[in-house]
Amino acid sequence: TETPQDTDIRQLDEHTVARIAAGEVVERPASAVKELVENSVDAGADSVDVTVEEGGTELIRVADDGRGMNETDVRAAVREHTTSKIEGLEDLESGVTTLGFRGEALHTIGSVSRLTIRSRPQDGAEAGGAGTELVYEGGEVTSVEPTGCPAGTIVEVEDLFYNTPARRKFLKTTATEFAHVNRIVTRYALANPDVAVSLTHDGREVFATTGQGDLQAAVLAVYGRDVASAMIPVDADGDELPPGPLESVTGLVSHPETNRSSREYLSTYVNDRAVTADPIREGIMGAYGTQLGGDRYPFVVLFLEAPGETVDVNVHPRKREVRFDDDDSVRRQVDAAVEAALLEHGLLRSRAPRG
Ligand code: ADP
Ligand code: MG
Repeated sequence: TETPQDTDIRQLDEHTVARIAAGEVVERPASAVKELVENSVDAGADSVDVTVEEGGTELIRVADDGRGMNETDVRAAVREHTTSKIEGLEDLESGVTTLGFRGEALHTIGSVSRLTIRSRPQDGAEAGGAGTELVYEGGEVTSVEPTGCPAGTIVEVEDLFYNTPARRKFLKTTATEFAHVNRIVTRYALANPDVAVSLTHDGREVFATTGQGDLQAAVLAVYGRDVASAMIPVDADGDELPPGPLESVTGLVSHPETNRSSREYLSTYVNDRAVTADPIREGIMGAYGTQLGGDRYPFVVLFLEAPGETVDVNVHPRKREVRFDDDDSVRRQVDAAVEAALLEHGLLRSRAPRG
């Protein structure tokens, strides 16, 4: 018989596994903000208030008036791979309409922070009763108590990465971390003008949309009057677009003179999901051509619709990138849609025809 030999290969404990997984989902405060805001939107919220301190490294609080959770729901929500959004792989194949669906956000965020959830259902037997407060620290539920709270959900994430010092060390300055948070929340605010979205950093309100307006009103709330007044509509579908997967390209783009030296003001969406993709950006920049100086970018809020089978939104675990079957056509379609809008407003100098 063989004698057992020494081995260096060992089983990791569940907390270590969870923390490693957390590193892939939650890279920085902005990634936690994204997951929490998506949950609020998925919960049908009419208002989502995001408060962060120190760029989100000390505190992230997302409060919504969505459907809320009862005690059983709250307990389930922090367990691993628990979701109310899909039942199996078939639902993924047939296309998910909710934003989050992997059932891991709360669990993983809670494994690298001190997470508090306060929630009370909007409807049902518990609607009028007390809410539930659940505290989850470093991967363990440490308390569950009844609490008075408004209908809806408030999630607080404190001391992100307190138990993963290596990751904490990789966080950038407060200003940089906040810029990432701002970008995420801005994108949701612009994509959901019918939801009142606010963002507060270190006690200062950065913006607040009313939730009553259209895209133009959301742009005004987020970027201010100068930018809002420089936006023109893009509205192309069907025959107005060259052949390709996109069925429509709509939104707002700025006059060429209203530009910045950063890409962060390009907010682009595919089937209502905030994404970045090279062909989309190249299409936009192609339309402006030489109207923009080197390394200058317009303000853009552009919604692209494409049949689900022509676009893969799951290429990236954080779902910010998309991949199209046919990049060249997407580029041409976006270029044509934006160019038509700029031409219509007399904002392009004549340009050489392209083949
Ligand atoms: P996922 O969003 O992928 O389902 P999460 O870990 O983000 O996974 O959330 C787990 C579950 O908790 C959700 O499916 C939902 O049922 C519930 N939940 C999370 N956040 C909220 C919220 N703000 N309002 C209502 N329910 C929520
Ligand atoms: Mg989620």
